Amino acid sequence: MSTQNAFLQGVGVGRGAVWGPVATVRPAPVVPADEPFPADLAAAKEKVLAAFSDVAAGLRAQAEGASATVADVLTATAQMADDPALRTQTGQRIDKGEPPLHALVAVIDSFAVMFTAAGGYLAERVTDLNSVRDRVVARYQGLPEPGVPPLDRPAVIVAPDLSPADTAALDLEKVLGIVIERGGPTGHTAIIAGQLGLPCVVRATGASSLVDGDIIAVDAANGTVTLDPDDATKAAVETRRAGLATLAEATEDGATADGHRIALLANIGTAEDAERLTDVAVEGVGLFRTEVLFLGAATAPTEDDQARVYARALSALGGRKLVLRTLDAGADKPLAFVTQEGEENPALGVRGFRLVRHAEGLLRTQLEAVTRAAKETGGTPWVMAPMIATVEEARQFAAMAREAGIQTVGVMVEVPAAALRARDILAEVDFVSLGTNDLAQYTMAADRLLGSLVDLLDAWQPAVLDLVAATAAAGVETGKPVGVCGESAADPIMALLLTGLGITSLSMSPSALPAVRFALSRHSLETCRAIGEVARQAPTAAEARAAGLALVDPQVREILALG
Ligand code: PEP
Ligand code: MG
Repeated sequence: MSTQNAFLQGVGVGRGAVWGPVATVRPAPVVPADEPFPADLAAAKEKVLAAFSDVAAGLRAQAEGASATVADVLTATAQMADDPALRTQTGQRIDKGEPPLHALVAVIDSFAVMFTAAGGYLAERVTDLNSVRDRVVARYQGLPEPGVPPLDRPAVIVAPDLSPADTAALDLEKVLGIVIERGGPTGHTAIIAGQLGLPCVVRATGASSLVDGDIIAVDAANGTVTLDPDDATKAAVETRRAGLATLAEATEDGATADGHRIALLANIGTAEDAERLTDVAVEGVGLFRTEVLFLGAATAPTEDDQARVYARALSALGGRKLVLRTLDAGADKPLAFVTQEGEENPALGVRGFRLVRHAEGLLRTQLEAVTRAAKETGGTPWVMAPMIATVEEARQFAAMAREAGIQTVGVMVEVPAAALRARDILAEVDFVSLGTNDLAQYTMAADRLLGSLVDLLDAWQPAVLDLVAATAAAGVETGKPVGVCGESAADPIMALLLTGLGITSLSMSPSALPAVRFALSRHSLETCRAIGEVARQAPTAAEARAAGLALVDPQVREILALG
């Protein structure tokens, strides 16, 4: 796309491109261990208390210009900063002779302990408390408040990485794209960026040298960031945006040029995500990551809470398909109330369906909640379990789900053991869904959170392709659906290959759907099969992709910037 040399080369997420000013995310301030005791006690106390008020006022002002969801988050934090108990107790500690910031941190920490012990809603507010602490400390020190800055104009967010809280506070009307120095393409910032449809580059080493106001062009398809883009680069960005916008107008169901159907589905994490699909041309949801509902909660959501959320998602989809995945906790998605302490290798530990060994009630409650939501809405959700490794596990899950009244039961294939024995697993369940993010992690023995191993985590790795092909073949043989819901489904060339292998549905971030729909519509099933064959003969990931790409229609290559 660019006529200039890229300033940074990272790994792109999505196919979009954008240019605009940089807004950097500020780090949390540090309270010095040897904080001096101020000469003027009264003035220091006054300064801390004023910092509380300034933080609250700043958050309220920010909320005024923000969209409804972001405004809610900001207003709740402002209320916390206004809490008289925090100020009074901080003042009392300073009066007793504690240095001001230490007094403030001690008070916030004591409230955090109380909130955590109380559980439920209060425990969930600990993140807000910590946010108030960091903001007040920064104000006191005369530093900008940490986190995503208030945006007065559309900007590209640049950060070392984004926490889930930072991401929740992104004002989508003003965020043009995301560039992060760390992370990887299947890490959670990347997944959320994809979910939000924001062009994103991860692993952008050197991004921390960018400063507020720098103008950059971000090309997600090529994983590049260009500093001070020239007119030609800006024009290329606009052309790409216009091209993708045109593709996004297509509404037909997924099919190859010769009419072979392959369902195009969306990945979601919340009921709000499902509601956002109301006007999106998508055949349903292929992965509802229900653990998002549990993240950050100190105690498990109740059956009532869960049933309400699932019913909302089912109603939003209005009869379209919904594949709901049961809680996938552990490793990269730790949950306060179930994650096993002291595991040396959490990715290989008690995670996903394995939690049933310690907390069977959690899964039973979730299954009951799904059944209730289905009855209330008249919906028929498909339900699948994550991290299944053995036939026994698949059998146990199927029994539990059917006992709870679920009609269509499946499991994820994301552990090599399950892929190798997919036929036996399919004998126990009605469908399977390939989670290629974890399948790559476990096949290549490469931590998916380690961006530096991104080459190993590539779903084009021949060994990963072999396992995907084995699973697809088991589906073709048994006549049962085999979907793909890992990030690889969003890669248009991979989508063609998967179709050729006999995969029956592709589930991805909604923003990735138009490119995949377009690629499918321009190739016959025979070409998809040929792409599968040539790619699988290649000995390396790069050669596999290149072999597949060589069979892609040149016009599609150009429009989708496939290289
Ligand atoms: C996967 O592993 O590919 C998957 C879809 O699940 P998650 O990314 O939520 O682990
Ligand atoms: Mg997974």
